[in-house]
Amino acid sequence: MAGARSIELPAALADWLASHADQLDTTQELASEVVPRLAEAKLFAIGVPQALGGSGGDVRDAIEAIAAVAERSLTAAFVFWGHRTFIEYVLQSPNASLRERWLAPLLRGEIAGATGLSNAMKFLSGIESLQITATPEGEGWRLDGGLAWITNLRKEGFVAAAAVTSAAGAPPAVIAFRGDAQGAARSADLDLLALRGSNTAAIKLDGVRIGEADVITHDARSWLPAVRPAFLGMQCGMSIGLARAALAAAHRLCTASRSGLLARVEALQVELARAVEQLEDGVHDGRFKAAAAPMFRLRISLAEIVQQAVMLELQGSGGRAYLMNHDRNFARRWREAAFVPIVTPSLTQLQLELQKQAAAAGRA
Ligand SMILES: Cc1cc2nc3c(=O)[nH]c(=O)nc-3n(C[C@H](O)[C@H](O)[C@H](O)COP(=O)(O)OP(=O)(O)OC[C@H]3O[C@@H](n4cnc5c(N)ncnc54)[C@H](O)[C@@H]3O)c2cc1C
Repeated sequence: MAGARSIELPAALADWLASHADQLDTTQELASEVVPRLAEAKLFAIGVPQALGGSGGDVRDAIEAIAAVAERSLTAAFVFWGHRTFIEYVLQSPNASLRERWLAPLLRGEIAGATGLSNAMKFLSGIESLQITATPEGEGWRLDGGLAWITNLRKEGFVAAAAVTSAAGAPPAVIAFRGDAQGAARSADLDLLALRGSNTAAIKLDGVRIGEADVITHDARSWLPAVRPAFLGMQCGMSIGLARAALAAAHRLCTASRSGLLARVEALQVELARAVEQLEDGVHDGRFKAAAAPMFRLRISLAEIVQQAVMLELQGSGGRAYLMNHDRNFARRWREAAFVPIVTPSLTQLQLELQKQAAAAGRA
């Protein structure tokens, strides 16, 4: 069941994703193909103003586009999310020269955009210190440190966003650095349980030089909560697509076997559609910028819907789900679903954040 704004993917891309989803999940063989294929289908332009080279619409359309890809492959959807979220940073940055330099090549998929902001999101919640230091040097800064996890580090070239702390005591900033900068070292791909074609690796920065043109914002503390609705909304696109796919499969299975589970499947489809509507409305009208808690609760609800949806697909299928020569989509979705609770902000982080907010409200 798709939402009112749902996006239809070009047939060639939809077919490629559907026929290579397993390979994308379990091997690194197709990692270099994902960004060019999504770019060719013009997906990165969705929700980007036409005046800036996009195809118009807003972030709700980008959420639906990510969901449409996630219905076929969560690996491709996560790459899409990382790239499109980097584009969002460029759009929402006060730095026009950054936009002039990066927006067009990002929309064309000529360079990959990666978002290493888990560390920053955890920093804002007081869980972790920032892992990269920016030391003023000449007209710019030198970066030292690293990130343990970052996706869409295309071997063919990438630019990544990270939050940095300044040794000189200035507020934390968010900057962009290039993968081929002197002093930047990408690790080999991490040995993942799933999503193996996502170009996920660690990065070390040793004296990487950046200048004013590379600064996304000088004030991470005020800028990050403002971009968080788009960051989190588009990330929820992954849950939405995966849940839609599992529920559609469960619906087919339960209809064919006249299973007693059908009513539960249909009730969950209704619950999903309601959550999607609330998420898209809130991201669009800006209410989540001032009040993050309802958005956090929606992210948690969507993650729970994903878990229930794959469980219903499993139960609708029964023993057949265990046969490797049967339908392999279930096994992949089961692995893909394991990613949903741990991607930042993880459910653990969000639950703790909500508890903190409730305790603070109780004290007020
Ligand atoms: C395939 C893959 C790709 C990824 N790609 C990216 C990427 O592109 N960019 C990026 O930035 N990151 C990326 N990550 C990182 C990811 O988004 C999460 O940061 C990470 O998986 C979750 O962090 P964590 O392991 O610390 O787990 P968490 O869920 O944060 O927590 C782990 C433990 O810490 C405890 N804990 C959590 N919060 C608190 C708190 N407030 N107070 C006390 N204790 C707490 C929990 O109870 C739990 O026991 C990726 C991860 C994976 C697996």
